[in-house]
Amino acid sequence: MTGPLEDIYSEIQDWLKENTKRFAFKKLEREIIASGVCVECGACVENCPVDALTGDYSSGKYVPTLTGKCTACGICYANCPRTYFYRDTLLGNVRSAWKARAVNRSKGAQDGGAVTAILSNMLDSGRIDAAIVVQSSPDKAWMPIAKIAKTAKEVNEASGSMYTHAPIMQGVVQALNEGSKKLAVVGTSCNIDAIYKMETSSSGPIKRIKGAEAIRFGLFCTKSYDYPGLTKFLLDQGIDVRDVKRFAISGGMMMIEHSGGEAEWKVGELEEFSSSSCAYCHDMNSKNADISCGNVGSEEGWTTLLLMTERGEKIFKQAVKAKVIEAEPIEEKDIREIDNLARFKAARWYKMKSH
Ligand SMILES: Cc1cc2nc3c(=O)[nH]c(=O)nc-3n(C[C@H](O)[C@H](O)[C@H](O)COP(=O)(O)OP(=O)(O)OC[C@H]3O[C@@H](n4cnc5c(N)ncnc54)[C@H](O)[C@@H]3O)c2cc1C
Ligand code: SF4
Ligand code: SF4
Ligand code: SF4
Repeated sequence: MTGPLEDIYSEIQDWLKENTKRFAFKKLEREIIASGVCVECGACVENCPVDALTGDYSSGKYVPTLTGKCTACGICYANCPRTYFYRDTLLGNVRSAWKARAVNRSKGAQDGGAVTAILSNMLDSGRIDAAIVVQSSPDKAWMPIAKIAKTAKEVNEASGSMYTHAPIMQGVVQALNEGSKKLAVVGTSCNIDAIYKMETSSSGPIKRIKGAEAIRFGLFCTKSYDYPGLTKFLLDQGIDVRDVKRFAISGGMMMIEHSGGEAEWKVGELEEFSSSSCAYCHDMNSKNADISCGNVGSEEGWTTLLLMTERGEKIFKQAVKAKVIEAEPIEEKDIREIDNLARFKAARWYKMKSH
């Protein structure tokens, strides 16, 4: 390779070395080309600084093929449009990463209770008219339905996680129809994408209401479960879902507390009950959220908060200032844990092996 790009590729190699891993072409071949998700764009072939790759048409389609000596510089893997690689493509535009916990943690809070505490603060201060959260259906225990919370007490009563899809838009549209304009909405990344469209796209109703906004609290998510499958699984284990007091998923385990004690299973055991929609989902941390919230990256009793927008930053700072949450920056090694979960989810989407 000769020309101005020669020096630039050398700079990129140094950057990759310092900031992340460098993968050889074999990894690209295994994960993207052999798995059939290559879009035949040629970015790998054309950016190889040692011209080790050729676009081979002998099979009738363009197949990037190793025809020289790969130095494992990592440039082809890093520039392929189908790899989820560095933090910006994995997690989106993270402005800063924190662990936080509520100063007065709500009894039912899932992790650090930071989501509930920040929402309560926003309601108390008049920053929002309503928070759209979830509550258990009156007919079916642990089936989430939308709840319009207008007081800190109502938000507190809705704390904790429910691991099935939640139709939260019913609450959003009802709140708007009732005249609320300033909303905060909690949801998994799939739902946050809908709210994002409703607020930012020309076809979105929130965009068309003067002065309306929907502040997005995205929950980290790798999957949710179909309600009938989850409840049947529990029943087969001798547990009635009505007796469950708490669900939690952490470290690859599903844990429950119920009136008869505690139980846990590997999440793999529940795989057949996961929602089919989740197989198509590759956004772990709600890239379109204002604040992304999860537990990975923080120790027990804390909530990880990724501040994704200026609006999210302001809300977070306000909650710290009001002393409703305490917060500390997350260390780089902990952010890598979040990267890894996001990579695992993206890799699953392609049915690739995770790194
Ligand atoms: C389906 C699902 C999967 C998750 N997977 C992961 C994961 O893999 N890794 C990880 O780190 N974190 C995951 N989380 C996020 C985690 O469980 C906590 O919600 C997060 O850490 C915030 O904790 P907190 O104590 O601050 O929240 P809390 O203060 O307890 O507040 C949680 C808020 O979320 C709302 N809520 C609960 N369930 C739903 C739902 N289904 N849809 C919309 N809103 C809901 C509640 O109403 C409440 O307002 C998941 C959450 C869900 C709902
Ligand atoms: S030398 Fe670098 S760009 Fe070329 S094939 Fe190997 S890893 Fe890819
Ligand atoms: S960069 Fe990725 S998608 Fe493009 S040709 Fe190479 S392997 Fe295929
Ligand atoms: S994995 Fe994706 S589609 Fe499934 S609940 Fe989570 S965010 Fe929604």
